[in-house]
Amino acid sequence: MSQISNTIRELHASLPGGVELVAVSKFHPLEALREAYDAGQRIFGESRQQELLQKISHMPSDVRWHFIGHLQTNKVRSIVGKVALIESIDTEKLLKVVDAEACKTGVVQPVLLQLHVAKEETKFGFLPEELFEFFTSGSISEYKNIEFCGVMGMASNTDDEDRISADFAEIRRVFDTLRPLSPAPELFTTISMGMSHDYPLAIAQGANMVRLGSMIFGDRVY
Ligand SMILES: *Cc1c(COP(=O)(O)O)cnc(C)c1O
Repeated sequence: MSQISNTIRELHASLPGGVELVAVSKFHPLEALREAYDAGQRIFGESRQQELLQKISHMPSDVRWHFIGHLQTNKVRSIVGKVALIESIDTEKLLKVVDAEACKTGVVQPVLLQLHVAKEETKFGFLPEELFEFFTSGSISEYKNIEFCGVMGMASNTDDEDRISADFAEIRRVFDTLRPLSPAPELFTTISMGMSHDYPLAIAQGANMVRLGSMIFGDRVY
């Protein structure tokens, strides 16, 4: 058995119950995805629209694809309805385009709202107060073809574990605040946080979805 299947099996055996594994396969070839698939992995995360569509057409149809990258509005049409979850909704403008497209296609698109909590670098995402405003202003109920499933976030890129844990705790806090305000709290259940280098800290702070790339597939060649 090779490294990829070993790692997938180890992760399936060791992740706590209720924590979903997204295998982040961006920049990795189809053979790598097939190997993960054969080891039992079904959720794959991709960050570029072209690459995603390519891979969808070559992988079995029971794969659940998550879009995790920055999504430009002109790329929305080709992915709505094709992905199980868009994890990276980072503006209301993008959400409007996704909703309009879902409406046109006659589907309901599940999404996560991306939160920006890491302080030192500019990253995409809503500020916590922007999301709070969005959830309390009433405008959230205008999105008829969107299913709001929870939040996605990243911690600061640092070795300081206290700092990382504090960022994850903040994402958790925002999730807890938003959940009762969401249009369907019973569907607003996902906290997607934690990557290869920090996922144990994320799980300790309540993550129930982790997005792991390099520890499964090795380093990416850009
Ligand atoms: C690339 C990426 C990951 C995976 O990162 P690794 O460090 O390879 O585990 C997770 N989440 C997002 C949003 C990414 O873009």
